[in-house]
Amino acid sequence: MIRPQAGEALTQGRMGPGADLLFVNPPGPDDDTWIRCQHRTGQRAPDGTVWPQTALAQLAALFPDRTVSVIDANARRLDWAEFGAQVQRARPRWYVTLLSGPTLQSDLQGVTLAKRAGARTVALGLLATPLAHSLLERYPALDYVLCGEPELTLRELVDTVDNTALQRTRPIERLFGPADEAPWPQTLGAVRGLAWRHEGQVIINASRPLIPRLDDLPLPLHRLLPLGKYSAPAVEAPSAVVVTGRGCLGNCCFCPKHIVYQDTLRVRSPESIVAELIELQRLGVHNVTLQANLFTACRDQVADLCRLIGAEGLALSWSCTSRPDTVDEELVRLMARAGCRRITWAIESGAERILQRSGKGSQAAAQAEQALAWSRAAGIHNWGSFLLGLPGETEESIRRTIALAVALRLERVSFDLAVPHPGTPFYRQAAASGWLRQGVSVIEGDPSGPAVVEYPRLKAAQLELWRERAYCEWAMSPGSLWGHLHILKQARAGRLMLGRQPLTAAEENALLHSRPLLFASE
Ligand code: SF4
Repeated sequence: MIRPQAGEALTQGRMGPGADLLFVNPPGPDDDTWIRCQHRTGQRAPDGTVWPQTALAQLAALFPDRTVSVIDANARRLDWAEFGAQVQRARPRWYVTLLSGPTLQSDLQGVTLAKRAGARTVALGLLATPLAHSLLERYPALDYVLCGEPELTLRELVDTVDNTALQRTRPIERLFGPADEAPWPQTLGAVRGLAWRHEGQVIINASRPLIPRLDDLPLPLHRLLPLGKYSAPAVEAPSAVVVTGRGCLGNCCFCPKHIVYQDTLRVRSPESIVAELIELQRLGVHNVTLQANLFTACRDQVADLCRLIGAEGLALSWSCTSRPDTVDEELVRLMARAGCRRITWAIESGAERILQRSGKGSQAAAQAEQALAWSRAAGIHNWGSFLLGLPGETEESIRRTIALAVALRLERVSFDLAVPHPGTPFYRQAAASGWLRQGVSVIEGDPSGPAVVEYPRLKAAQLELWRERAYCEWAMSPGSLWGHLHILKQARAGRLMLGRQPLTAAEENALLHSRPLLFASE
């Protein structure tokens, strides 16, 4: 049962003057919604998705002894004037913002605005860790950058500056290990994971170890978020994201997990996750995204979680991401019984050579077909995500990818362009090999925007064209009613692009009525 506006009412109760810490998701670069997230890279949100800001709610939970507020301008569709007025009213001592590549200029605009309002400004996110030095060097309004896992670093930073370490509650105190038991007051130089300035010089402190047990983190304060504003295609508001684990043992060169988690995998216990789900139900939220780098990375955790959801009688509808070689028929059935309604399969490529070269490993088409057949039979919707432009990509390998997307009878697909995010092996390889496209900011790369890599035999403009062809091929495939509607909607919105130019009416017509290129060329 959905209870609209539940989260919104509670959030408004927390807004107000004099916040110690203000956590923000500022307005984006244009009128679209944008995805900023601690656990994934930024991008223009597809089809108006409004991504829940669980990361901000998680950070806020580290401060039970302070006044905390959240402004999610993206969800509330606040413009800069309204956002600025709310920041002024909140008069925060601390302004904490997520950074993402495609929204970087907006994120820093928010930082400047907060600095003018007298706040100390803090940034975090997957972009912040590898670029901390240059961000602090170039943007004087930004005071601090949290490198790596941000929660404990933020708490220690605030305690050091505000001298509030003795106010920590026992659960918060227990999060810190013996290495953090320095005598107080501590110096900023001792705050592990912090990048800051001292006498005009940027200082990057020693790195902070990952939190050993994710269960020790307090539950995110979802009640601070405008839950009634969060929705996505096939996900009704109110909705929320619940993080079930961090990291992955895979080795895909393009994966942002390399930036912070490297070769680690930590999963939360089913009991901890269910406690969060129960809290969300209390807030009226029954639609949930269970988020992890790879949700099915640990089979036992997922199976036990599904059993516990059933045992608790939770009425949930949830979605997740997976890859075909991490599921079996029994697991998929368990997931369906526990309320899983959609799996987005991270398939990436239909060419074995590309998967091997990118570190994703072997993933036979037959394996994908089998996993999706189990899922379909269990009543779960199959969506697929593909990446075009990985190392070694050719027009021939893209054709194979499109062929696989069509053969899998996916209900929805994304064909994104590969972005080499700083801090990943892909970025290092692209920089060393001269694959970074000249004149385009790779840091601000958006997988749904212009290509930021190109190869000697596959130029950026070709990649962009192939992305549109891929959508058209898939949309024209039998049974893809949603695909037809999607492609028309994108074209009408001027968002179906050839290069950076919206399609002309003639081009749109030609694409929509062309003989499927896949079959014409093979
Ligand atoms: S399997 Fe997924 S989460 Fe794991 S490294 Fe590869 S892309 Fe990242």
